[in-house]
Amino acid sequence: MRVGTVKEIKNHEYRVGLTPESVEELVRNGHEVWVEKSAGLGIGASDAEYERSGAKLIATAAEVFAGCEMIVKVKEPQAVERAMLREGQILYTYLHLAPDPEQTADLVKSGVTAIAYETVTGPGGSLPLLKPMSQVAGRMSIQAGATALEKANGGRGVLLGGVPGVMPGKVAVIGGGVVGFNAAQMAAGLGADVTILDRNPDVLERLGNHFEARAKTRFASTANLAESVAEADLVIGAVLIPGAAAPKLVTREMLGTMKSGAVLVDVAIDQGGCFETSHPTTHDDPIFMVDGIVHYCVANMPGAVARTSTYALNNVTLPHALAIANMGWKSALTANPHLAEGLNVHAGKVTFEAVAAELGYEY
Ligand code: NAD
Repeated sequence: MRVGTVKEIKNHEYRVGLTPESVEELVRNGHEVWVEKSAGLGIGASDAEYERSGAKLIATAAEVFAGCEMIVKVKEPQAVERAMLREGQILYTYLHLAPDPEQTADLVKSGVTAIAYETVTGPGGSLPLLKPMSQVAGRMSIQAGATALEKANGGRGVLLGGVPGVMPGKVAVIGGGVVGFNAAQMAAGLGADVTILDRNPDVLERLGNHFEARAKTRFASTANLAESVAEADLVIGAVLIPGAAAPKLVTREMLGTMKSGAVLVDVAIDQGGCFETSHPTTHDDPIFMVDGIVHYCVANMPGAVARTSTYALNNVTLPHALAIANMGWKSALTANPHLAEGLNVHAGKVTFEAVAAELGYEY
């Protein structure tokens, strides 16, 4: 199969669909790979590296779209890209169609076969192609929080790990899923005093067994949460209620109980945020103050570490890309029901029930 990848054109998107290493794997499996020139510059992968991996460098995205049977990307295709998709072509990327009627209509019109990363499942209903981005955001939340705690950024001037003879900073992580687990790992690794709050007893037990004395676990009752937030130097918001907006667990009133210059990092901001005072920010201008509390609310945290994020993403997307290229999409989806869950649009029809229901398509 001829597989192509293009330079991402969404604002501030530096990741790329295929790393040079992924290209090499596809080529070793007998496929031809077309890569738009400078597609990998955002992650520091040069055209020469892609050529050494066996890619054919192509001058324009238009030629890649026109010449390839499968397009592998990161972000949903933008309008100019959607205009280049055609019937019988496979698009394999993040799509997030439910809140995006325009994109859905264009994909339906194009006749493309669109497989969305975010709906591919794993055992137990997990979402393995979303997981690495939660891992990245969780780990990054502690870096972002540590920086925000610095005096020059409005923070209270606390070093999370402390130093010999001085107490470490206190970190409260609300939500002990993928983001929360990774945040707690980083914070505990720095030597901070970490408490993870969750409402699911199984999650608390798993975290307790994993961290032992390196982090405390606490049931996220309203009273416990209020106390942990009031004591913390850094609070990480990492809750998720699948399919719903994040609950506002920290109210404006609670900010008054916090230490001046404490930091809130709202990782759940992409679901509306779990602090009442949050609003989405960008990497250009990531923090703002409310009532003396520093807020960091960047909605696409993994974008800041595009290289790590691209490699983490390719680790989970490549096996499916190989299966699709080796077997053809139909056989690959028949052989793997988890991959079949990724099919969102095919031959002019919406093929994912929740998207069809949300946007009023026949299913
Ligand atoms: P997850 O499902 O793995 O974990 C969510 C956890 O929240 C679960 O353990 C659940 O029990 C807990 N929870 C739910 N309600 C709670 C409550 N009221 N109190 C305490 N805990 C509660 O989800 P995840 O992958 O860790 O993602 C967390 C959030 O981070 C999501 O909103 C996700 O979209 C977001 N996210 C943001 C970025 C970013 O760049 N900002 C990147 C990746 C993920």
